[in-house]
Amino acid sequence: MSHYSIKNLEEYYQVYRKSVREPENFWEEIAEEHFLWRKKWDKVLSWDFSSPEVKWFEGAKLNITENCLDRHLLSRGHKTAIIFEPNNPEEEAQHITYKQLHERVCKMANVLRDQGIKKGDRVCVYLPMIPELAVTLLACARVGAIHNVVFAGFSSKALSTRIVDSDCKIVITADGSYRGSKSIDLKGIVDEALQDCDIEKVLVVKRTNSDITMVEDRDVWLQPLLDEASSDFEAELMDAEDPLFILYTSGSTGKPKGMVHTTGGYMVYTAYTFKNVFQYKENDVYWCTADIGWITGHSYIVYGPLANGATTLMFEGVPHYPDFGRFWQIVEKHKVNQFYTAPTAIRALAKQNLSFAENVDLSSIKVLGSVGEPINEEAWHWYNDIIGKGKNPIVDTWWQTETGGIMISPLPYVTPTKPTYATLPFLGVQPALMDESGEELKGNQVEGRLCIKFPWPGMARTIWNNHERYKETYFSTYKNMYFTGDGALRDEVGYYRITGRVDDVVIVSGHNLGTGPLEDAINEHPAVSESAIVGFPHEIKGNALYGYVSLKETGESRVHDNLRKEINQLISERIGPIAKLDKIQFTEALPKTRSGKIMRRILRKIAENDMSNLGDTSTLLNPEVVQDIIDHRI
Ligand code: ATP
Ligand code: MG
Repeated sequence: MSHYSIKNLEEYYQVYRKSVREPENFWEEIAEEHFLWRKKWDKVLSWDFSSPEVKWFEGAKLNITENCLDRHLLSRGHKTAIIFEPNNPEEEAQHITYKQLHERVCKMANVLRDQGIKKGDRVCVYLPMIPELAVTLLACARVGAIHNVVFAGFSSKALSTRIVDSDCKIVITADGSYRGSKSIDLKGIVDEALQDCDIEKVLVVKRTNSDITMVEDRDVWLQPLLDEASSDFEAELMDAEDPLFILYTSGSTGKPKGMVHTTGGYMVYTAYTFKNVFQYKENDVYWCTADIGWITGHSYIVYGPLANGATTLMFEGVPHYPDFGRFWQIVEKHKVNQFYTAPTAIRALAKQNLSFAENVDLSSIKVLGSVGEPINEEAWHWYNDIIGKGKNPIVDTWWQTETGGIMISPLPYVTPTKPTYATLPFLGVQPALMDESGEELKGNQVEGRLCIKFPWPGMARTIWNNHERYKETYFSTYKNMYFTGDGALRDEVGYYRITGRVDDVVIVSGHNLGTGPLEDAINEHPAVSESAIVGFPHEIKGNALYGYVSLKETGESRVHDNLRKEINQLISERIGPIAKLDKIQFTEALPKTRSGKIMRRILRKIAENDMSNLGDTSTLLNPEVVQDIIDHRI
């Protein structure tokens, strides 16, 4: 019997029990029925979390692009694979069919091979959100090269570090990129980055037609090469365990880690989670607003959707250009059925005039998704009421770069949702909550550190060139467990709520306080837009709480001291007087990673008055606010 698409809660529990009782059989059935393998595996799984070593579908041969492209050609050749919505709404959207995408990928694969790229070589991709980005990923996979996508908003320093760390042979970039009303000199950033590394070739896509320098013998325009290239390319035969890509984590907690994902397991996991978590139906239009530079884009713009023959939308621009209604205008224009975004975007859009969301037709939407950070209660309700009109389930999906795909999430129209809860483990996922002494907390209504007890096919296999760090970070805190670094609670029905990073738990007078629920309480104040709470050493309490609060209206006219009182009042009511903040600093903005996550690590250092140890700030979106916060520290 096929369990490819789960239809109701009873079936979820039934299939979940099987997936945990007989994981090998469970994943084998899915892999066998829904994918194209050139050779079947000898063994479904072998694993040892102490080495650590995990192998799925060992001995199997495949090419992921045959699963994402070739096998759809007969039945879906003329179906749109990618809808490209440009930054400028005046520029026409593109609809790329599966047949056209297949052709473009084969041409690009030929270009790569002509440039000397072979199986196992690393290719650095530094491209804006244009179709060439998706084409390049797939072309690398077709050749068997390992792609290393660096988000095109990163600085030259961040780019060169990643190129050097993963020893890339070639860089693929564009002359420039558009972001709202700005155009960015992408090629200039690459030129600067390459002063520190040894790169043979740079292939350049023309996007902005800006005036750039082409370095002789190194830089080549891509289009003329593509025009000449053949549109046939026999896909390289890959081992299930051959690396597909390297991708660096967001860097919220420290130096980014180059996670390595392999081919077979990643394909099965992203495709199966995509199908279920978005309940994708043939002819739906699915849109994930993430950048392909993040894992969310790899798994849920490119591989997961295409492996299902879906139509996936790629948006080049930003949510506020030309105005704050852009996301909703795109939903209306392309009749988007599944919409997947991040809490940071939801909070930013919820601050704007309601008319942006109300004067458009959002009736095509069936499923709303959230990923990247805990979604606070107020944002959840806004998303649910204003965008979902109270009828479209929100899937709050918890996962990580390391996990490759979604791990804890409701299944829409299957799992009843609950604000701020990621709810139930995905099929085959075995979460465990651990206490500080290393004991597993059994039963419901417990709170602890989130681990995973058993391998799943999408998990990263190592950190590039640093297996020791992989072992140390994820497998040495608890014996025989993958440690996520996040804290979570399990409620009375077994639903999970992610309470934040373990490092963000503050012990005040002996009480463990997760900062997520505190921020939730503060964010409910009508004047507050976002907040972040951290601990700092305190003589009597051990630690006290420091809150950074940004307001909806800058230049809030009310006296700040009153606001401070009201905020602490809210916390007293919602959590208890123990959780009151000792210090509240109002700030224009909070420091964020480029993927939009609040960087609490830096805020903690500032609260501790330890400015010399701010750590790696290369992944910050808005470094200027850090100085501003330091200057106004209380
Ligand atoms: P680094 O590992 O370099 O510090 P990072 O953890 O921010 O960076 P990602 O892999 O992009 O890098 O993010 C994964 C983390 O994001 C999770 O561990 C969790 O803390 C948070 N997260 C993601 N989705 C959710 C969610 N739905 N609810 C709560 N937290 C989430
Ligand atoms: Mg992380």
